[in-house]
Amino acid sequence: MGKGFFNVPVAINEPVKTYAPGSPEREDVKKAYTKMFNSKVEVPMYINGKDVKTKNTRTLSPPHDHQHIVGTYHLAEKQHVEEAISTALEARKSWSQLPWEQRAGIFLKAAELIAGPYRAKINAATMIAQSKNIHQAEIDAACELIDFLRFNVQFMSDIYMEQPESTSDAWNRIEYRPLEGFTYAVTPFNFTAIAGNLPSCMALMGNVVVWKPSDSQIYSAKVIMDVFKEAGVPAGVINVVFGDPKMITDVVLSSPDFSGLHFTGSTEIFKKLWKQIGNNIETYKTYPRIVGETGGKDFIVAHKTANAKQVATAIVRGAFEFQGQKCSAASRSYIPKSLWSDVKKYVIENVNSFKMGSPEDMSNFITAVIHEGSFDKLSSYIDQAKKDKDAEIIVGGNYDKSKGYFIEPTVIVTTSPKYSTMCTELFGPVMTIYVYEDKEYSNTLKLVDETSQYALTGAILATDRYAIEEATKVLQNSAGNFYINDKPTGAVVGQQPFGGARASGTNDKAGSAQNLLRWVSPRMIKETFVTPTDYRYPFLG
Ligand code: NAD
Repeated sequence: MGKGFFNVPVAINEPVKTYAPGSPEREDVKKAYTKMFNSKVEVPMYINGKDVKTKNTRTLSPPHDHQHIVGTYHLAEKQHVEEAISTALEARKSWSQLPWEQRAGIFLKAAELIAGPYRAKINAATMIAQSKNIHQAEIDAACELIDFLRFNVQFMSDIYMEQPESTSDAWNRIEYRPLEGFTYAVTPFNFTAIAGNLPSCMALMGNVVVWKPSDSQIYSAKVIMDVFKEAGVPAGVINVVFGDPKMITDVVLSSPDFSGLHFTGSTEIFKKLWKQIGNNIETYKTYPRIVGETGGKDFIVAHKTANAKQVATAIVRGAFEFQGQKCSAASRSYIPKSLWSDVKKYVIENVNSFKMGSPEDMSNFITAVIHEGSFDKLSSYIDQAKKDKDAEIIVGGNYDKSKGYFIEPTVIVTTSPKYSTMCTELFGPVMTIYVYEDKEYSNTLKLVDETSQYALTGAILATDRYAIEEATKVLQNSAGNFYINDKPTGAVVGQQPFGGARASGTNDKAGSAQNLLRWVSPRMIKETFVTPTDYRYPFLG
């Protein structure tokens, strides 16, 4: 152990760069984008500190230009997953014993690498792989990931400081051990920051990891691994495997040493994994920790005292930034009749002013959705809305997948508050609005609470404090992140710890010490200074 009680650097949020015309960061990212877009990357897996290539490869293409190939990646066979597990367990012997300040040093260095030399590269990779515009890439791949890395070190230190009371004759100490075995990180396509955070926060707490990124995020996952390597994460501590998620997961979850799942993705997959872990429970040496952040059907409720322009802005930013592919993206709104004509006018004006196309052209606010599966799902819901009597599309409604998977931001107004797109997570740029009678505010709040299985984010816009208070109470269990007079997206690490309940996840709040606590198993040590020598208590006379 270190000979001193070390203070960690005070974590601060990484300032978001503007990328305004003429700024140096804009030139840097444009250069990186052009270079990466016009060359071919080969992405091996990374096991035991070595690049692993197989005979089985798949190509990488940007969603906004799906016939253009930017590289290939290598897919795992069963033996690679087994090797990732055994190598992680071997690495655990040294990694779990390494003093915490050494682990902290590695991940703080990773944060600075992303803030500096890797910033343009990780942003460009996210623009290419996930079709984020530069602002969305910057707040995710650069700033949020940097924040996770810095704040997690602070949270780790806070956790270690949390100690029980002692007395003059007994000293009580808690040591926060890493989990016994190895952990499994399964990450989604939509946030490079989440992809980086899930494996690294477990490793920071002394665990070893098998990480399976999403097939739609491989390019930016590669940059994350390059950063971790350069920052000094030792061989075997984080092992990356790509490929068939079911095969990989079957191998991982059948290992007796599996000790924790850190998942972010859809509700359906998380429930499957939970069941599989349950079915294998006799296999494991320890009860696995299960953390999952999953789907959402996030809402905006306006009260009649809200400002129509503010409501419209919350709707268009909340629903359409990154094409609505944020777990927190607003996808259902409840607007009082008296505000509706103004809100409608502003929403239509805003949406009609959006430019859509490749993220390379920085004047584009909207780019493509992630893949053909998502495109087909979204277009079928839009087609259905065109046919349904209780739905009307007031703006958008077109789509085109000839070059990229482009779906126009679409606003549906429904007369049925339980219309399918009010309840189902579509994960794309589709907002459905229900207009309610002003006097029905209280009933509308109940409706909001009862309409979906999810409880991730939601927002109330109002100036009347009684209305705000009522919404805050009635919607207590409807959202893990609740916003007053704001859009329901854009949580910042260290400021708004993020996560939802019900079908939205285990609510272990990414970006907080609560999450990191799941990746340690405390050992209580009591040391007695006056050790008894006689079993008889005084009461025995
Ligand atoms: P997804 O569920 O399709 O994929 C997530 C991960 O699970 C990927 O790595 C994928 O390969 C893997 N996977 C797929 N099938 C699997 C299987 N049978 N066994 C094991 N792993 C499997 O999700 P996605 O499309 O990448 O991301 C979008 C979803 O993630 C949305 O539902 C969104 O709401 C959710 N999400 C939630 C949060 C949150 O914090 N609550 C954050 C981001 C995304």
